[in-house]
Amino acid sequence: MPRVNGAQRAPTGRATCRACREAIEKGAWRVALVFYEDGRYQPSGFVHAGCVSAYLETTRIVMPARHFSPELGDEDMAEFEAALG
Ligand SMILES: [Zn+2]
Repeated sequence: MPRVNGAQRAPTGRATCRACREAIEKGAWRVALVFYEDGRYQPSGFVHAGCVSAYLETTRIVMPARHFSPELGDEDMAEFEAALG
C-alpha cells in the first residue's frame, strides 16, 4: 500500500495521476506517494489532491503531507486542504 510522502504544487504538467490517469496540470496541488518494497520506500508517483482520499482509502492525508513537506506554511496547507475536496 502506498503512503503519502508530501504535498506540492506541480512544477510541470507532465506527471500523470495514479488514481484517475489524467495529467496533473502545472500549479495544481498534488500528493507524492511512496511504496514500501525491498526494505525501503520507493518513489511511486503522484495523485491529484482531490484524488488522494479515494486512492488511499483514507482521509488522514493532511498530517503526513505536512510532516513530509515541512516547507509548506499555514497558507499553503489551507490551500492544500481546500484542494483535497
Ligand atoms: Zn487524479
